[in-house]
Amino acid sequence: MLHNLPIPQPDPLWAVLSKMEQDQRNDKLDLIVGVYRDENGVTPTMQAVQLAEQRLANEATSKAYKGLSGNTLFNASMTGLLVPNGAIAKTTTIQTVGGTGALRLLFDFIYALSPSATVWISNPGYINHEPIAQKAGLKTKTYPYLDSNGQLDEAAMLEHLSMAKPGDVVVLHGCCHNPSGVDLSEPQWKTLASLLASKQLTPLVDIAYLGLSDTMENELKGLHHLIGSLETVFIAASCSKNMGLYCERTGCAMVVSNTSQQPAIRSLFEQIARSNYSMPPEHGAAIAHLLLSDPTLNSNWQGELTFMRNRINHLRKQLSLALQEDERENRYAYLARGKGMFSLLPFSSSEMDILAARFGIYGTKTGRINIAGLKESQIPYLTEAIRQLAQQ
Ligand code: PMP
Repeated sequence: MLHNLPIPQPDPLWAVLSKMEQDQRNDKLDLIVGVYRDENGVTPTMQAVQLAEQRLANEATSKAYKGLSGNTLFNASMTGLLVPNGAIAKTTTIQTVGGTGALRLLFDFIYALSPSATVWISNPGYINHEPIAQKAGLKTKTYPYLDSNGQLDEAAMLEHLSMAKPGDVVVLHGCCHNPSGVDLSEPQWKTLASLLASKQLTPLVDIAYLGLSDTMENELKGLHHLIGSLETVFIAASCSKNMGLYCERTGCAMVVSNTSQQPAIRSLFEQIARSNYSMPPEHGAAIAHLLLSDPTLNSNWQGELTFMRNRINHLRKQLSLALQEDERENRYAYLARGKGMFSLLPFSSSEMDILAARFGIYGTKTGRINIAGLKESQIPYLTEAIRQLAQQ
């Protein structure tokens, strides 16, 4: 059997990562992987998480199975966090193995109900959306997202999505678009919601960076507008970044639906989970529930999250200012406006190779850099390298 094994194709992201790891230069910059780092270059465990873990260690008495939907208290807390009060009763939530697990479970769910549905994914978009949807058996198509200046190309996006057929699914980033950092404005969410409603398309909102660019209330406006305007909304949520629970694999999948089919939705969710991993891991979900439900831990967590987003927004402004060459205009102003951890540099894949080879500055081949991976002291070095590359 094993002689049929295909020759391994290196994952593009991990290929750049291994080059970066072999690079011996002290001043190399790792802006590849999407993890938050503090000013010391460390991805810290949040203090609120540490306090929650201590409490769990003291109080939790059993490791007995929780059930196919995972930790139901966590599911209720996440529903309360993401969905407006009026929609809680029509939401079905299942704990998943991170945000990735939520995406896979939702795509499996969609395939089970509508195998001929096409999933529409933004271009550029999150590198994993397409393979996860395709592994679930679904066809995928892309819709354009950015214009040549790196701004949202609303007209092109709407034009493409109006070609989708009724029953198709549109993947949207709830906030902090990965890889561009370009989000929809409130009026743009509203226009999009009208198009989805008129074309009978269902949004799947992937929300993996809540709280990392603005208040959660502001970042949730688009999702809430979709929930208010459409019959069904799918949500894939991750606690990896905003709670720093990366390796605990904590997330959830939701269906918000005006139908009265919540028991059937849960049953299908659980059937899919059962034949896949059975039950999700408990530890991260128990922590996340405490962060969302205990008033002291919640305010600690919110404080730490605010600190993280202020740091990212500050780095964005500093980098954009440092790159400004002309008093009247700044072609890097978009970096300051960008949302969340990522932005795209205006460089081709071979220029990104030069940035890595000559300067030891590593982003992805598509030009994505993780702003949250930067120290303020590294901004002059990055600026100089970008300038030299742009002048070539
Ligand atoms: N969606 C997007 C847009 C992401 O960027 C990521 C993580 N990089 C995920 C989902 C997956 O999150 P998790 O690590 O919790 O599986």
